[in-house]
Amino acid sequence: MVKLKCGLEIHAYLLTNEKLFCRCKASRERGLESNINICPTCTGQPGAKPMSPNLNAVEKAVQIASMLGCKVNSNLPWMRKHYDWPDLPKGYQNTMSGAHAVPLGINGKFENINIESMHLEEDPAAWDPKTGETDYNRSGLPLVEIVTAPEFKSADEVYHWVNKLVHALNYLKAVDSNAGVKADVNVSLIDDSGKQKTERVEVKNITSIDAMKAAIIYEFERQSKEGSIRETRRYDESKGITMRMRSKEKEDDYRFIEDPDLMSVELNKNFIDNQRKLIPELPSVKLEKLIKKYKIDAKNAAILARDVDIVEFFEKVGDKIDGKFALPWITVELLRVLNYNNKKLNDVSISVEHFTKLLHMVKDKKITELQAKQILNKFVPQSFDPSKTEGKIESEKELEPIIKKILKEHEKVVIDYINGDVKSFNYLIGEVMRATNRRADSNIVRKLLDKLIKK
Ligand SMILES: [Zn+2]
Repeated sequence: MVKLKCGLEIHAYLLTNEKLFCRCKASRERGLESNINICPTCTGQPGAKPMSPNLNAVEKAVQIASMLGCKVNSNLPWMRKHYDWPDLPKGYQNTMSGAHAVPLGINGKFENINIESMHLEEDPAAWDPKTGETDYNRSGLPLVEIVTAPEFKSADEVYHWVNKLVHALNYLKAVDSNAGVKADVNVSLIDDSGKQKTERVEVKNITSIDAMKAAIIYEFERQSKEGSIRETRRYDESKGITMRMRSKEKEDDYRFIEDPDLMSVELNKNFIDNQRKLIPELPSVKLEKLIKKYKIDAKNAAILARDVDIVEFFEKVGDKIDGKFALPWITVELLRVLNYNNKKLNDVSISVEHFTKLLHMVKDKKITELQAKQILNKFVPQSFDPSKTEGKIESEKELEPIIKKILKEHEKVVIDYINGDVKSFNYLIGEVMRATNRRADSNIVRKLLDKLIKK
């Protein structure tokens, strides 16, 4: 029986403010106007020199390497990888990969798959063959490349593994989750004893996790039927097929040389240790903690663990108030308010103290659940002390002047009521509730209104 043998080269955009070798803004959003974040360096003008590499990109790459359990190398030369293509006017890409390079990280392991190496490199520009135009906004963005051993045995395994990887990278806040991941996938077939049955085929430029899975399934079936030669193919997402691009290039074709314009990156042990300390608990650890420490069921634990900010917020709240009580206030109510405002927790300023106080007020029956939800709605963009500004008003002393004022302002309504119009009374209650931001206790308002009108 033939089996799949598959390895991945995954590319992800690092989450930095600036590009790798110039100080142009690093913008990754789609639909941006072309060529607005550019300079002589990232458009490859003759004579333009690279600036020293973006330190933040190096830091984040080291964090990723540590997260993947890689050994981090300390002396990293920048290579020039030469090729001619309209997306690369300077004629070479700066990378830490390729012949004679020293990878930033080696020999890691993530979720039972060995990581062979990890590199830092720059993205080329985007060339549109239909219009002939090149957009340099992307040119020079820092990318990481993660190379796995060819250990995947099924397309499903790839799909789940890459999803876990992306989830962990999002916890690290090191890659741009909106930009997604791209991958080159190498596929061949082996028999039960591990002997190669087909030549290794590399499928380039796959731009989503779904497409990775589909491309691998297609290649497996194609090679099972017709065998393969060593070549590079591309995946056509609209047709769901792979097509021949070229026969496999040798690494020599890229004429790798060390870049004379760039100094090697020197990473000392201290620097590497400091980056390692910044790595948060990963999703698998969080999930186990939620279930064991906070007694959260697996389904809700998965909802909480989707977003590192949400799960960390839950843990802080759960250390102050019963986690099970807090759970729906986060997985349902907090997420509802954030979704409604189209924000992430990170975009707003909701303090654990204010949130916990709000939950205590519900628990101690100082406010109703409905009132708490209304207060929570107002926690975006910034929370406040819910007891000071939004508590239920039960004090007659506090309510009397408000009600007197409303009676004075609506003399005609009061007369209507005295003349037998019952609806007018409800109107007055409504006005008091509006004036108190719905904080007044309606029973006390009713009682006071009756008393003061009779006066
Ligand atoms: Zn630039």
